[in-house]
Amino acid sequence: MADVPGTNPWFTHFNNCIDEEELEERWTLNFNYSLENELNAQSRAEGWKIYVTSSFAKFTCLRCSNSWSSARACMVFHYRLGRKSGLVLLRLLRQQCRECNNPIMHKPQVNSEQMYQVLDRLILKILKNCYRVPNLEEGERVLIHRKTKPHESDFCEACHLGICNQS
Ligand SMILES: [Zn+2]
Ligand SMILES: [Zn+2]
Repeated sequence: MADVPGTNPWFTHFNNCIDEEELEERWTLNFNYSLENELNAQSRAEGWKIYVTSSFAKFTCLRCSNSWSSARACMVFHYRLGRKSGLVLLRLLRQQCRECNNPIMHKPQVNSEQMYQVLDRLILKILKNCYRVPNLEEGERVLIHRKTKPHESDFCEACHLGICNQS
């Protein structure tokens, strides 16, 4: 899979967003699919913060080529500002195909616009919690009401973790 820095759109979009803030420290985004949906005591002590959100996304089954949309593509971010650099870890919660019922979990495909919305919200959190930028208007989470089939918890990794549909 093309999870190499510079090629995955999450990396390029993140770099575009964070560059706009002209922060002194260099921030990096990496994927980490073993992130927990809560911070443990050690992570907290090390200065990690967490942001859990969701977005509209498409999924494509590689087995039967079924594709579906979901407004509940959940994502877990852990982020920390170190002495000279910042690090963001991202876990995209996956979903199973309901057509072929194959246990393979599929990653969400998030389009540019949605990705920027997610990253903008994340960066507001970073500015607030790591740089003490006061009282930014975070706004209400924008839920895009597009037509999607009813959510099926059995097929959703985030539901299994209990972090889906937090609103
Ligand atoms: Zn399938
Ligand atoms: Zn779910």
